[in-house]
Amino acid sequence: MQLTATHISYLHICHRKLWLYASGITMEHSSENVKIGKHIDESTYERESDKYKEIELDGSKIDRYDYKTATLHEVKKSSKFEQSHIAQVKFYIYLLKRNNLPIANAIIDYPKNRKITTISMDDYSKEEIEDWINQANSIIDLELCPPVINKPFCKTCSYFEFCYSGE
Ligand code: SF4
Repeated sequence: MQLTATHISYLHICHRKLWLYASGITMEHSSENVKIGKHIDESTYERESDKYKEIELDGSKIDRYDYKTATLHEVKKSSKFEQSHIAQVKFYIYLLKRNNLPIANAIIDYPKNRKITTISMDDYSKEEIEDWINQANSIIDLELCPPVINKPFCKTCSYFEFCYSGE
């Protein structure tokens, strides 16, 4: 299976979510959180649409990439899952490098939190990403769905009803 940034992001949130998503069970389109995130993304940065371009690499869509300054800019609605966002952006860097595209800076912007996280190339390690790819593939290959994780954030997950409706 060709892994995308979504797989890598879910690896850092919940193994069950990764397994369900990779199995083709998706519910994100009906999630209100996703709609809110898209609205923040579009309304906050409309004015920058000329500077950044959307590109698609090996099945992953990078919303904002500036070829001239070799900068990647990701916008998120909340920093709650920052580690997963950082992993997602590092995976984008991996894809850019694999496709021989320049990358010097990566920025994660949290407009609601008034917070910016910068990922320098010193923070990036190809081996780390390849390790995540191996971990994700091992989880996806499991015969049975991993167990629920009972975290407070499960309530905002698009799989919440699927995971807990039997309780
Ligand atoms: S509801 Fe919780 S256990 Fe189920 S997929 Fe989402 S994060 Fe994982």
